Amino acid sequence: MPYRPQLIVLDQEVEDFAFTRVILDRLPGVAVKVDSAQANLKKLQQERAGLSEGKKTLHLKRYLGAPMKLCPGYTEAPILCCDYQVIDLVENCPLECSYCILQAFLNKSVISLHVNIEEIMAGVTQALAAQPQRQFRVGTGEHSDSLALEHLFPASPYLIEAFAKIPNAVLELKTKTTMIEGLLPLAHQGHTVVAFSLNPAEIIRREELKTAKLPERLEAARKLADVGYKVAFHFDPLIHYPEWEKGYEEVIQQIFQLLAPREIAWISLGTLRYLPSLKGIAEERFPGCNLFSGEFVPGEGGKRQYFKPLRKKMLHQVGAWLQRESQGKTPLYICMEKASLWEKSMPLVPKKAEEVERYLTRNCPL
Ligand code: SF4
Repeated sequence: MPYRPQLIVLDQEVEDFAFTRVILDRLPGVAVKVDSAQANLKKLQQERAGLSEGKKTLHLKRYLGAPMKLCPGYTEAPILCCDYQVIDLVENCPLECSYCILQAFLNKSVISLHVNIEEIMAGVTQALAAQPQRQFRVGTGEHSDSLALEHLFPASPYLIEAFAKIPNAVLELKTKTTMIEGLLPLAHQGHTVVAFSLNPAEIIRREELKTAKLPERLEAARKLADVGYKVAFHFDPLIHYPEWEKGYEEVIQQIFQLLAPREIAWISLGTLRYLPSLKGIAEERFPGCNLFSGEFVPGEGGKRQYFKPLRKKMLHQVGAWLQRESQGKTPLYICMEKASLWEKSMPLVPKKAEEVERYLTRNCPL
């Protein structure tokens, strides 16, 4: 069922913004509380509702931070990172993945929508125009699923049409939904990539609640490719479970039965990692979740991760299946790993972030 809030908290200053009006028109009958931005923030911070309860509230506000910033996961050597840029339009997510890092990361439990998109996009356009010689990848899926609120907050069509006119950037929308219908007729000019996060059906059923099933995600990818979008896939997190080899190999075969390697912009891999505080939160919110009960070791940014030999084995194996099925024609990369692990699993090991970007945008020339 598409998400519907029980309450809208509206900051007075955005009451007349165009996207506010669209959202309110699409939610007739939902209670709306209006107050100043400061008062709303104070109340929401004091309430500290649990996450499941908090997500029933939508907070409409103006975003005043940097319009575009480097991915917060960016880390210097020995980690080999890309140069991914993020736009922050939605904070928190209506979907319920047990491993979602946002549960331990965000300091509010409500879902916030930044309705001053025109202002944010003007800043993004300016920042991209300032470096015309560089080619950027820019994404919205950092603090939420990019499309899960599309039925209420049609931010993506606005961005797609804006990016269609930008000569040096590709927009990436990352999702676990099939909410793509509004994207199909748009004149994207090849400047938008729609990416699906994938896992074997068993993991989706157990750990990715409220998301679309695997065949539905793949079918949505096919529909997008049929109207000229490049699609992408993320195997992140790769999860170790008894049938993982069979599970991931089958998903990879299914991708390439439906899509040609050059229709796919890029595919990423990353093994499960989590902030220590997430374990307790996830186990309380998702009784029976045992993702975090194996052995983990400290990794980058204070996160826990699988032992190196296990990470190496999983990345190597999944990387090998991807290379076999894509015949080397789809760029592959690993998120948040040392170059030494790329060497064992990836067809190419770029030296630095700019090289990663050039390699990844190979299948979507602007
Ligand atoms: S789709 Fe992404 S942002 Fe949403 S709950 Fe799952 S992991 Fe978190």
